Amino acid sequence: MNTDRCLSFYLSDGAMKGHFCRLSDSITNALHNHSYPSKINTLLSEMTAISQCFSMDIKSNSQTTMQLTGTSPVKLALVNSLDCKFFRCCATLDQASNIDVDGLSVPQLFGQNGKLVFTIDFENQHYQTIVELSASSLQECFQHYFIQSQQIPTIVMVCSSISDNKIESAALLLQKMPSSSAINKEDYNDIWHEVSCFAATIKPHELLSTGPSMERLIELVFNGLSPIVSRETTLAFQCTCNHEKIINIIKSLDSQSGDENLEVICEYCNKKYTIDKTEIDS
Ligand SMILES: [Zn+2]
Repeated sequence: MNTDRCLSFYLSDGAMKGHFCRLSDSITNALHNHSYPSKINTLLSEMTAISQCFSMDIKSNSQTTMQLTGTSPVKLALVNSLDCKFFRCCATLDQASNIDVDGLSVPQLFGQNGKLVFTIDFENQHYQTIVELSASSLQECFQHYFIQSQQIPTIVMVCSSISDNKIESAALLLQKMPSSSAINKEDYNDIWHEVSCFAATIKPHELLSTGPSMERLIELVFNGLSPIVSRETTLAFQCTCNHEKIINIIKSLDSQSGDENLEVICEYCNKKYTIDKTEIDS
């Protein structure tokens, strides 16, 4: 069975919903061409898992971009997802900084003015939400995002495991659905309280592939709330760069081309492109 998947599920007849994503081969493939510090691999792998959970609620054929931006030692960490099936990710570090990133909290990694930016592109429309990066952990930053942007109580759990040749990550997102007339407000809050208590029993390693299967874990944890899996997608790393797109980017930059051919490396997949001078001038 494919290990890289995202499942959506409902609890208590649709009063609550959840998304659960596990990544292994896809995130290993996405990061193995880079030589980021282990802390950055952790950050990108966890952001990617959360990003897939975010994307499950968005219309098909949408592109989503999740960015953490700042100044130093990390300028940018970015995950770009297409249709909750394909993703790519990259980070830009401040080359002038010699701060050791290991052990830094999220706000410390991004320095001053750290922001979380989430963008949805759908049929030429562009929706963007920006919140401050204030909480110390990635999961708290995303919980803050939901409170700020949607006023929806949300639980975000995320974890990862990094070894020499394998990267794994997982995220679980639980949300209260807008209240329906079928359930009174008190019962509604009680169900949410139960969801929070059940979620608190999950140990991080259980979210990863060392735990039970994804369906089994949902069943085990939320057994009392009649979980129903409503959607499943499989995920893969895929970069959409190609020779023509690279030429268009260079042209849009409007920089003076010299006499030499240009060598360009894709930030996402590290593929090297050699662009002939005549291709840019044409
Ligand atoms: Zn690429």
